[in-house]
Amino acid sequence: MLAAMPDSNAPAPSTILLVEDDLAIAETIAYPLRAEGYAVEHHLLGGGVAGRVRAGGIDLVLLDVGLPDIGGFEVCRQLRAFSALPVVFLTARSEEIDRVLCLELGADDYIAKPFSPRELVARVRARLRRHQAAQEGAAGDGATVRHGRFEHDPPARRIRFDGASLDLTRYEYALLAELLRRPGAILSRAQLLDRAWEDAPDSGERTVDTHVKTLRAKLRRVDADADPIRTHRGIGYSLDAG
Ligand code: CA
Repeated sequence: MLAAMPDSNAPAPSTILLVEDDLAIAETIAYPLRAEGYAVEHHLLGGGVAGRVRAGGIDLVLLDVGLPDIGGFEVCRQLRAFSALPVVFLTARSEEIDRVLCLELGADDYIAKPFSPRELVARVRARLRRHQAAQEGAAGDGATVRHGRFEHDPPARRIRFDGASLDLTRYEYALLAELLRRPGAILSRAQLLDRAWEDAPDSGERTVDTHVKTLRAKLRRVDADADPIRTHRGIGYSLDAG
């Protein structure tokens, strides 16, 4: 089988350790991840997971809560004793564990079954990017300002969304930077034109709409369901930084 080519925003191929005792479910999880270019290593039991992670080469752990031997929560506890690797729980709806419990246990996220392959891939990708960004940020120069899912590095004129660097044109960058100054505040087209197109006074308000459209498309490449730029009909735009 040929693996699909990762898109230009995809990280370098990462290895996901999938711990799931139900073979049918494991297959529905592994297939879309492999199609995205990830390597998937499947374990049926929780007992060997800590040892496997210790051995290296794993980038993220997808952990079923209901395992027949030691259970996902205990596996997570073992991992957190020595590793900051992203851990995402897979839960059955009937288990109804909440986000607070997951976070207390040191997990990064959880996904309730049944889930769509697209949702799964998007969540895994976002977790991997945040982890990579956190590692890069730890070595960075401190110029980056975080606003929810966005990270803005003004000296470098660079904005990241869920850890993914956005490839923005000059005016897309200026527009998004203006919206990021005050997340939630509504800015009219005229205000945005004034501030982001100050050196291009002949631009019209349609220019703002056009750039919002291309910006949205670039954000959707990172997360297909994301739409953080809100349209306020007849007024203007605001940003929900998430
Ligand atoms: Ca199970």
